[in-house]
Amino acid sequence: MRNQETGGNTFYDAIVVGSGVGGSIVAAHLAERGVNPQNGERLRIAMIEAGPYWKGEVRPGYGAPERRRLITNCFSDDAADRMWPWGMVKMVGGSTMHYGASVYLPYPEDYEDWIAEGTDWSEIACRSAAEEVRQMYNIHAEPDAVLSRGSLMFRDAARALGRDVQKALVGRRNCLYCGFCEGGYFCRYDSKMNAMTTYIPRAERGGVEIISDAEVERVVIEKKGASFAATGVVYRRGGRATELRAGKVIVSAGVIGTPLLLYRSGYGSREDLGDRLLVENKNIGRHLDIHAAIVVMAMFDRPIKDAARGAAPAGHFFLDDAGPGGRGRMRIKDSGMLGVEEPWGLAFSPFAPDFGREHKRFMKQAATRRGGTLVVLKKPEGYRGSVNLKAAEMEYEGNDAIVKRMREGGEISREVLLKMGAKNIIGTDMPPIYHIAHGVSTCRAGSDPKTSVVNANFESHDVDNLLICDASVQPRSASGDAVGPLATISVLAAQRIVANHFKRG
Ligand SMILES: Cc1cc2nc3c(=O)[nH]c(=O)nc-3n(C[C@H](O)[C@H](O)[C@H](O)COP(=O)(O)OP(=O)(O)OC[C@H]3O[C@@H](n4cnc5c(N)ncnc54)[C@H](O)[C@@H]3O)c2cc1C
Repeated sequence: MRNQETGGNTFYDAIVVGSGVGGSIVAAHLAERGVNPQNGERLRIAMIEAGPYWKGEVRPGYGAPERRRLITNCFSDDAADRMWPWGMVKMVGGSTMHYGASVYLPYPEDYEDWIAEGTDWSEIACRSAAEEVRQMYNIHAEPDAVLSRGSLMFRDAARALGRDVQKALVGRRNCLYCGFCEGGYFCRYDSKMNAMTTYIPRAERGGVEIISDAEVERVVIEKKGASFAATGVVYRRGGRATELRAGKVIVSAGVIGTPLLLYRSGYGSREDLGDRLLVENKNIGRHLDIHAAIVVMAMFDRPIKDAARGAAPAGHFFLDDAGPGGRGRMRIKDSGMLGVEEPWGLAFSPFAPDFGREHKRFMKQAATRRGGTLVVLKKPEGYRGSVNLKAAEMEYEGNDAIVKRMREGGEISREVLLKMGAKNIIGTDMPPIYHIAHGVSTCRAGSDPKTSVVNANFESHDVDNLLICDASVQPRSASGDAVGPLATISVLAAQRIVANHFKRG
């Protein structure tokens, strides 16, 4: 029977599973630069995505009316049909569809870490990739004129305390500063540079077929002599299972999606798979590295924000390292001074009186007077989590060293907020939040198959024709936000995959 979704195709040169940062970049590059090595013809590529595709022309700053209608004002827009149970987005564009668009290229310490973990991803090797990402994501700092008063106060107070304050960076174009975006909202105007506003259009123009609402159930892995090879995928769409064959299968299903899919395909540890084990690699789902965070909130007795409009979604930050090489690095950012304060957030905030006139007075004033910081610990030392593949959830417990370091961050925040004139500060000693959002390393890259899943060329150590490109391969959590380093690695991956597999002769 003819396959409706693929126009009859059942064989592709490459199938990419997942359309987030990694998947979109690899698909676009392969479509533009790759050729079939045997006949030199253009590649036939399919990108398969479990969630929906909100189509529409990409016009940053304007948006597409059709897509805008699909966006609500609910926090994170987290409808169950486009969210995974583990808190990442399930739709074309992946988690960048509702990320904060806080984008930083790798720091020198990131490259050092990746080399130490057994790759050759040096600053020199990644130079052209990082430059491409800087341009595609339009990474820049916002002018002071569009920042909130609180953001400028934070800058001045931290500098007065001897901190090296830097401008926060964003990946946006033509932002209207409506303020309804930071930390979990879709952008109605396509100003956020995400997978869908950057590489998905390039992939489509290059002829990549996007098959949406189609969850890949397993990668088909077959025994060929003494070794194993990936030969295709089986996906389910509308209750119907379909098998497609491919020369290369590139898994880009994200930090939990990727190890989960490999596990479902019989590739993982004997401990996890038992009788269903096809190919063994103990590292699948292990080594999870994430960021820990605390949110420090403060009340001021005068407005620090403008009630009439939103501010730029990023202002200032400073770093505090516990040791050389960015060890124990904390980033303390003025996140609470930005954006629009929603009434539901204020009403339930710890500052809000429970009832009566006092509550009403608070609700009238607090929207412009509440500020705070976000403290993110980039490198929880000596501790890694894992993905519980049977339950499809992350397992990560903090340790005393993380709690202690986060409290130090809370105290540094308090110092700055007091200098700004804050009257009431809470959260400096809150238990750290561990969230999968910036998770990496669950199928990490490295030179030793005993401690990693793919090599530095993104090829599986154990299964021929199987490659991985997404946050799961990044061997260590970066010192900035996740997308800049991940996109850099993904462009490098695409360059290497073209050079090693899709070049004539
Ligand atoms: C709320 C939130 C805020 C964030 N803010 C920032 C920020 O400001 N700055 C920053 O740098 N980073 C931020 N991040 C992190 C960033 O979004 C991720 O690091 C990045 O999206 C990871 O890219 P990826 O390609 O690995 O995976 P994803 O973007 O998760 O994409 C994976 C895709 O694969 C699909 N998929 C999974 N399994 C299957 C399957 N079996 N079949 C078919 N498709 C499948 C998924 O639906 C998804 O679309 C944020 C994340 C969250 C959740």
